[in-house]
Amino acid sequence: MAKNIYTKRDDGRKMTEVRPMTAKVGIVPSADGSASFETGKTKAIAVVRGPRTLHPQHMQNAKTGILRVNYGMMPFSVEDRIRPGPNRRSEEISKVTEWALNSVVDLTGFPNTVVDVFIQIPQADAGTRVAGINAAAMALAHAGLPMKQMVSAIGVGKIDQTLVVDLDKFEDSEFHDGEGSTDIPIVLTSRTKEIALLQLDGKISVDEFKEVIEMGKVACDDILKVQMEALKNGGKDE
Ligand code: UDP
Repeated sequence: MAKNIYTKRDDGRKMTEVRPMTAKVGIVPSADGSASFETGKTKAIAVVRGPRTLHPQHMQNAKTGILRVNYGMMPFSVEDRIRPGPNRRSEEISKVTEWALNSVVDLTGFPNTVVDVFIQIPQADAGTRVAGINAAAMALAHAGLPMKQMVSAIGVGKIDQTLVVDLDKFEDSEFHDGEGSTDIPIVLTSRTKEIALLQLDGKISVDEFKEVIEMGKVACDDILKVQMEALKNGGKDE
């Protein structure tokens, strides 16, 4: 089968361009920390509660507090209604988000406690796990919890033969020339530029993979600016 080359994005973006972003903190005043992060039509909300004493007691760690992430998509976040409640996908995303955030959050000052991070997706157009991680990192910083650095997250993918940043649902779908699309969520730390999470679903060559990382780094720099601006503007007392 002849291979199509993806030369024009459905929404006219450059291949390296992130969808328009907005970010806010303090969106839930009663929470210890909260934030929202939007890219295009994908929206994530993160709410932080804690640190508070962890129950049951046998789950406590006397050396450190524990981060606990709960990710979920709202039933009407996509056209086909999603069944409420946890499923395999949401449990996987909660776990990988926890790993990514654990690499920067330092809860050693809060032994025997838990910090809960609830991530909700009211509107999904692909890239929800990375949007959720961006919102959660901001919400943790907004809560004033000790963080060694921030994290920023982006999906970089391959559509047919072309590498693209921040795929939307149309691009993330399997309609392409038979190879389908590859989506690679990447989470980068802000200062040391280390990879806090990388997931690969699909096929990609080593050279393409290196380019994916470079594209991810540039995009994460843009995202970090948006996160930091929101944190600077949104004091806890707003
Ligand atoms: N999606 C959906 N129904 C589902 C799960 C996902 O319609 O039950 C859509 C949604 O737009 C999501 C996209 O598929 O953003 C891609 O999902 P994926 O599992 O790749 O995770 P994401 O890209 O959101 O992190």
